This record gives sequence, C-alpha cells and structure tokens, in this order.
Amino acid sequence: MKNIPVIMIIFGGSGDLAHRKLYPSLFNLYEQGLIHDNFAVIGTARRPWSHEYLREQVSDAIHETHDQVDENEVKAFASHFYYQSHDVTNVEHYVTLKKLAQELDDRYSAQGNRLFYMAMAPRFFGTIATHINDQHLTGSGFNRIVVEKPFGHDLASAEQLNKEITASFDENDIFRIDHYLGKEMIQNIMPMRFTNPLIKNIWSGEYIKNIQITLAERLGVEARGGYYDTSGALRDMVQNHIFQIITLLAMPEPKDLSSDSVHQAKQELLKSLIIPTPEEVKKNFVRGQYLGSDTTFAYKKEPNVDPDSTTETYVAGKAKFTSGPIAGVPIYFRTGKEFKEKKTRIDIVLKHINNPYGQAHSNNITIEVDPESKIYITVNGKKIDEPGIRREDLTYVFSKEEMAKVPDGYERLLHDVFVNDSTNFTHWSELKRYWEFIDAVEDAWQKENEAGNSEIAQYLPYRMGPKEADNIFESPTEHWIYE
Ligand code: NAD
Repeated sequence: MKNIPVIMIIFGGSGDLAHRKLYPSLFNLYEQGLIHDNFAVIGTARRPWSHEYLREQVSDAIHETHDQVDENEVKAFASHFYYQSHDVTNVEHYVTLKKLAQELDDRYSAQGNRLFYMAMAPRFFGTIATHINDQHLTGSGFNRIVVEKPFGHDLASAEQLNKEITASFDENDIFRIDHYLGKEMIQNIMPMRFTNPLIKNIWSGEYIKNIQITLAERLGVEARGGYYDTSGALRDMVQNHIFQIITLLAMPEPKDLSSDSVHQAKQELLKSLIIPTPEEVKKNFVRGQYLGSDTTFAYKKEPNVDPDSTTETYVAGKAKFTSGPIAGVPIYFRTGKEFKEKKTRIDIVLKHINNPYGQAHSNNITIEVDPESKIYITVNGKKIDEPGIRREDLTYVFSKEEMAKVPDGYERLLHDVFVNDSTNFTHWSELKRYWEFIDAVEDAWQKENEAGNSEIAQYLPYRMGPKEADNIFESPTEHWIYE
C-alpha cells in the first residue's frame, strides 16, 4: 500500500472519539503501511499534556482495542504523535500550531500535506475553520478537513458553517463524516440492490409496500443531557444516519462506482424528496420522551434537562420521493433512546400477491446492521405433513472469522480520507436537502409548542417506544415488522 505523507492535526486530541476510535484506527492504517514513515499527528486540546503523555494515551488506546500487538510497533507508531496545548478560541495558539506543523512537515518530509480533524463539540467547528483560514494553517500540498456530526443545528447554521469551512477548503476536500456509511451492512446495500436480479427487479412501488428503518438505542441520555436537550432525536439521528440509509435504499443505480457517479445518483434522488407540510407532520410524525423506572430517571428529570423540555428522545416519521426506483413508496423510520435493545435494522416489506393458497406470510427482506450483521429473506413454502404454508428465513451471514476481519467504520472512512475517496461522505447539497426536511418538521413542532398543543407521547423505558407510532401507517394493513 502507498505510504501517504501527511501532517494530521486533531482538534479534540484528549477526547473520547480520538481515544476510542481515531487512535486505534490510525494504528491499523499504520500497520497496513498507508501512513508510515512520512506522517505525524498533532493532538490538540486545552489540557497541558506533554508529547510523552499523549504517546502514552495513544498506546493505551491501542492496547484497549487490540488483543495482541507488537510492542515495538506500538512504540514506533506512538513516536509520530505530538501534543500541542491549544484553546481553539485563542488566535495566538494557531500561530504556535502552524509553527509545529511546519517543523514536523520538514522532519517527516510530509510534502506540505495537511489533514485537519474536528473531533470536538460542534459549537467550535466554525471557530476552528475561521482560524485555519485567517492564520493560514493550510499547507502547500493537499489540504483536507474531516468534520464530525452534527454539521449545523438547522439549515441556516449549516450554511454558515459551510461558508466558514469553504473559505479554506474546496468541497472536494471537505469530508463530512457519518460513521454509519462505514458500517459493513450499510456498505452492503448497494451491492445487494444492484447485483441480484432477484432483488433489483422487485425494487419498485409495484412490489415494495413500504420500507421500515429502526435505529434503537438502549441507553438514555446519560451525561449528555445538557447537549441533547438542545438537539433531540430528529437532529441527532434522522438528519444524518437515517437519511443516509434512506438515500442508499431509494437512489437510482449510479452509472459506475466512482464518487462522482454515486453522489450524482444521490442528488438526483434528493431533488424529489417530499418536504412535509405542517399538516403532514402532525399526521405522519410522532415524537416522544421516555418515562422513568425504579432505577432510571424520566427524561425530564435527567441532569441538565429542562423539566418542561419539549425535546424528543424518540421520533417516528415517514419520507417519500417522487422519483427514483421506489417513487411513492412510504419509508417509515423510528429512532429513540431507552428501547428494549440496541438494534439497527431495515425491513423491506413486499406486497401481498394473490395466490391459490390464500393466506401466505409476507415475503420480506431484512438487513440487520447492528449489533449483528446479516440479511434475511422470509420465504413461503409448504408444510411437510399438513396443509398450509410454512415460513422460513434464508439468511446471509458472516462467519466469526469473517466478522473479526471487518474494520471499524472509522478505520474505513479514515482510509478513504487518506486516499481521497469521498464516496462515503456527505456532499453539501445532500446535507442541505436533509436539513430542509428536518427544519420543516422542527418548525411544525415549534408552532405546535407555541400554540400550547404539542403532542409529546410519554413512553415506558426499555420497550419499543410510544404506541402512537403504530398510527403513522398509510393503510391499516401496514404495521412495524420489528416489534
Ligand atoms: P469529548 O467531549 O470527549 O472531547 C472533546 C475534546 O475537545 C476534548 O479533547 C476537549 O479537551 C476538547 N476541548 C473542549 N473545549 C476546548 C477548547 N476551547 N479548546 C480546545 N479544546 C477543547 O467529545 P467526543 O465524544 O470526542 O466528540 C467529539 C466530536 O465527535 C463531536 O462532534 C461528536 O458529535 C462526534 N462524535 C463522537 C463519537 C464518540 O463515539 N465519542 C461518535 C460519533 C461522533
């Protein structure tokens, strides 16, 4: 594998994301030789750490995520890390950072290539982008920036942030990361849809009754109550992960697998996304908040949450397109905290066909994304020794050995950033469309709140969310497949 020369600057180098995901993923890429001799990483955060202390942290992060490692390799890898105490709001600190980046560029022959990673609270993204620009932190080679979620709080703030970032970076060099796009089963949606005649030919409103996407979380807001109360499930999960999945399921077939073609197909689809009216939001969306139990707090009693909060910890809704292979097919989605189990799954529900047997089980395709990775198709056959129809699942699974080889989403996506492949990142025009949809729902809810008639369903923790979500279906023959 090609050794890519680069100086990487991580804003938020002492944070959770850097420790749990970025350092272990970088180590794996180092082991594969993608980054090797000509790279250095500058970790920045406010704390007064030393280079040595950061290297110990990096080494700990690798040991925590790997069963067996060659200690010499870990040591050699960690020696490429440098720490710069840096308050992102202090302009002078960017001057010191720039100097260090230049020194390391010379020492490691990094050819002026810079990779900036925003692994910090999103409220700082604009400030960092502005100072990268006004303090000229970019190098003379390639300059790429990875931006974590959420990219903005609504369309207006996303546009503002985009303006601040594009002052220094071209759209092609901005990698808006959504780790769902690095997941094995999400990356399996396109090959599954486009290589199987059995699936490709039924991918239309003629055969598909509806699609259902569930992103269930087992945990509550935990220590993130203060932040979460300003966000909610719609912004936190639907605006990014759920819409990425919807887009992959509904987009037309790209003409090839290049990043440009894939984004072109996505953008063509998104033009036809139906933005819901306030009446449609009232009819097709349910928002909820979890109640307490003997051992857990109700959402409104969580630390740092407003006791009168109208922020949703659960949302169910519907999306539809007027073009693309499944134009007109309802795509129902739901996500929330304190579900009965952690699970991400997609159910493609096929229409019933008339048959001489009368009753049959529905013939569905299910993609389980998390925690298991599998695809199964429910198939009807005959019962062995009595009349009637029997249901079996044909399952596509991975062996334990294969699963062990699946790289973490962050490793895959970091690899893509190094090799300059934007296929699995969000283009600005896609993000913009997602926000237009989210803003329409948020605005409708806001108006309901102001009129004093907000309907926020309260649901019992560790079940399947509010029962009101059973009423968003277009016809009485539809229901949630995963219950
Ligand atoms: P974190 O709170 O653990 O880390 C934040 C970092 O920012 C720390 O290093 C902190 O020292 C630093 N920091 C705070 N204020 C600063 C300032 N004024 N100047 C310089 N440094 C400052 O957060 P995190 O969980 O690592 O999340 C970072 C980003 O990654 C967020 O955008 C989050 O949405 C996203 N993300 C995180 C995860 C995850 O698993 N942690 C997963 C997906 C996305």
